[in-house]
Amino acid sequence: MNNAHGAPGRTSGRAQPRPAHNHGAQNHGAQNHGAQNHGAQNTDDRDLLAGLGLDDKVRLLTGADNWSTCPLPAIGLRPMVMSDGPAGVRGQTMDERHPSASLPCPSALGATWDPGLVGELAFALGPEAKSKGVDVLLAPTINVMRTPLGGRGFESFGEDPVLIARMAVAYVGGLRRAGVAAAAKHYVGNDSETQRWTYDARIAEHVLRELYLVPFEACVREADLDLVMTGYNMVNGVTMTEHAWLLSAILKDEWGFQGVALSDWHAARSTVATATAGLDLAMPGPSGPWGSQLTAAVRDGQVSEDEVDAKVRRVLRLARRVGAFGHNGAAANGGPVLADPSLLRRCAAAAFTLLRNKASVLPLDAGALRTVALIGPNAVSPITQGGGSATVPPVSVSSPAGALTRALAGQAQVIVRPGCVTWSSVPEPEPAALRDPDTGEPGIRLEFRAEDGQLAGTEHRTATMFTWWDGLPAGIGWGGRGTIVLRARYRARQSGPHVIGAGGVGWLTLEVDGTQVAAGHSGVPADPVEVMVRPGEIRATVDLAEGQEAEVRLSLRPEDWPQGPVAIRLGIVPAPDGDELLREAVEAARTADAAVVVVGSGPATESEGFDRPGLALPGDQDDLVRRVAAVNDRTIVVVNAGMPVLMPWADQVAAIGCCWLPGQAMGDALADVLLGHAEPGGRLPVTIPVAEVDCPVLHSVPDQGRLDYTEGLLIGYRGYDQAGIAPRFAFGHGLGYTTWEYRSAVAESVAVGPGADLELTVTVRNAGTRPGREVVQAYVEPVTAEEGRPVRTLAAFAAATAEPGQSAAVRLTVPARAFARYDEMAGAWVWPPGEFAVRVGRSSADLRLSVRVKSLFFRTDRRSSIRACAHAQRWPAPPPG
Ligand code: BGC
Repeated sequence: MNNAHGAPGRTSGRAQPRPAHNHGAQNHGAQNHGAQNHGAQNTDDRDLLAGLGLDDKVRLLTGADNWSTCPLPAIGLRPMVMSDGPAGVRGQTMDERHPSASLPCPSALGATWDPGLVGELAFALGPEAKSKGVDVLLAPTINVMRTPLGGRGFESFGEDPVLIARMAVAYVGGLRRAGVAAAAKHYVGNDSETQRWTYDARIAEHVLRELYLVPFEACVREADLDLVMTGYNMVNGVTMTEHAWLLSAILKDEWGFQGVALSDWHAARSTVATATAGLDLAMPGPSGPWGSQLTAAVRDGQVSEDEVDAKVRRVLRLARRVGAFGHNGAAANGGPVLADPSLLRRCAAAAFTLLRNKASVLPLDAGALRTVALIGPNAVSPITQGGGSATVPPVSVSSPAGALTRALAGQAQVIVRPGCVTWSSVPEPEPAALRDPDTGEPGIRLEFRAEDGQLAGTEHRTATMFTWWDGLPAGIGWGGRGTIVLRARYRARQSGPHVIGAGGVGWLTLEVDGTQVAAGHSGVPADPVEVMVRPGEIRATVDLAEGQEAEVRLSLRPEDWPQGPVAIRLGIVPAPDGDELLREAVEAARTADAAVVVVGSGPATESEGFDRPGLALPGDQDDLVRRVAAVNDRTIVVVNAGMPVLMPWADQVAAIGCCWLPGQAMGDALADVLLGHAEPGGRLPVTIPVAEVDCPVLHSVPDQGRLDYTEGLLIGYRGYDQAGIAPRFAFGHGLGYTTWEYRSAVAESVAVGPGADLELTVTVRNAGTRPGREVVQAYVEPVTAEEGRPVRTLAAFAAATAEPGQSAAVRLTVPARAFARYDEMAGAWVWPPGEFAVRVGRSSADLRLSVRVKSLFFRTDRRSSIRACAHAQRWPAPPPG
């Protein structure tokens, strides 16, 4: 069914890639993005280009190093610096000495259903990006959560393309207003991690058009997106960096993308095929498949120089937009600079999704409490971010235990009990337990030793996990040509056995007080990024007395592994006694006025590089919740995970809320919500199932390299509705602290078709006793259901705010596209005649009002824009670049 360009079905013949000189030479888009033409026609760029030789042009198309593009001093162009990622600006290093503001993860941002807030947050990253010298943020991730098992699901805004599109457009617009370019990723079908470098996603064209391409299309057409990052995977038999149909025909020619198509890191793996398909920039560098090989390919006629010029023009346009001509980049190692430090806390509270609140147990009345049992592994060691390239070294983390204790100081006693453990690698020790053996300062000592053992460099540091992607300090090389040593004095807080873990890839030795206690080799993991998240580990158990200080020495001779990072990690923890932990937690809950149980992902549950094995909470957490709920009928469960988890105890507890992976403000935001200082503003961006088998797509393991998207359009709530399966909690569900009446929905017209958006006014009334914010959601439902097509799809949403007893009206624009489908035979969007209900309500399963509309004639539209998808909150046009 596929052809050389990877376009599914017969329509692929129609969409052959255009000749090279057409790419970027004009604005192909249905929409012209404002008055300025930032595109390839820029006269200055043409003059610049004319003065460049082939070697210089080609140099510009591969990174200078891991994060920068090549400077061309002859034309006054400095390097442009890129940085991950979607949950904070990491900068060029992963280093606790240069921390970053750690944001709520993207699924949390999706849960806000608040593009205004997401745009504000993205805008607020501008000063930090500037202080770190960052021009391009490798974000947002706008893949669709196809399966809840996807390791990187937390990096996505949700399971619905319309919700993702709204969030993505706001995020890209916010960054742009701050002068930072966004690289939306990963184009496309990069929806799971197993075999992510190679799998072939087999996706029908109408499914691509109606689901997976929607957020990318919206960012290009509405937000004047600067860069698109291609994935590692293939789509319909063609690897994405070589995908002429998706990169040139659709992205550039059809949507009018004027920006840079950049490879994911090391995803460009050929010279001619990538160059002719429409890839513009291969990252990282300086080596890679372009460079001298591309120059040679141009010289022997396999790639035209016009093709190279078109790429260079796009890179120069980017340079102009980020101000890379004639200016030096900013300092490289600045810290977080948020104009409003409370923004992260506000966002985390806005994302908190209250799923159940029996007898209004929440918010807690602080004045009526004497004791609160705060239970759960994540109450003590919260998971604030997902693993992989989205991780940033946070400035500081507010933990639930610390924040709730502070918030209730002088009112109620907070008794903290972990209840169980969920770690698979030995947890890093608490910073206060460590001293640098040489200086006595809090922290540790790192040493870099040459092959002959000579000390080549030494640093005092305060972290206990280190990763180097770009070479080691002091010139220590990869591959057995040196050793990294981590030394620390550890003071035990209690007597008993302690587990010590030494992590890394290579040959590890662990000594305690001069005696070797473990040694071994830890092999190369399946995906390089695993080294950051769960490096192989050797362990030893040693007995320590309370107050005793032990000198720990861990040494690593790194594996000879050119494509992977070097990492070293120290873990130390008192050996846990599972029965005792559980017993203490239940005892604390028994006599407390309320029990708050924070459960969720473990330290390596959700990450880039690997998928989740299942949806159950790791460890004995389900048992812990059940046992606590059995002794305290005011048990409030807080789920700290970026993706859905199973909640087999849901009916046995008083309240359930999802706090997602909320970033560094976790504890404070949690205290705000639990005590009613903030409204839990979230609505589910993803469906939560009763059982794993209910999920429309559970598998993410390619079969002989192929990942067939056989479910077609039926992912997430679309799949549950079609199969008639009731989820545990539906997409869009979230309670807040007040109640709402849906009073009326009035449409301005009853006819729909191409170009005819439907304006809807919905009136709701706050029927509760607290002010609140309601997310009014509109779903389009064909009156006659059709096999293989969703029962209903989200089309628009907007937020109403009202005081108790007051009504509020919101206006929703249901885009014409919501009534169309993509017809592969016609190669166009079509509006078949028929009747639709536009149903309005609180979630995909709680729809309270309905209006009927009709599509009268069969109509097609080849260039249908989705611009009208913008709901009530639109963003102003970006400033001149
Ligand atoms: C990830 C990207 C990331 C890049 C640079 C890749 O492995 O897939 O999302 O931006 O690395 O860190």
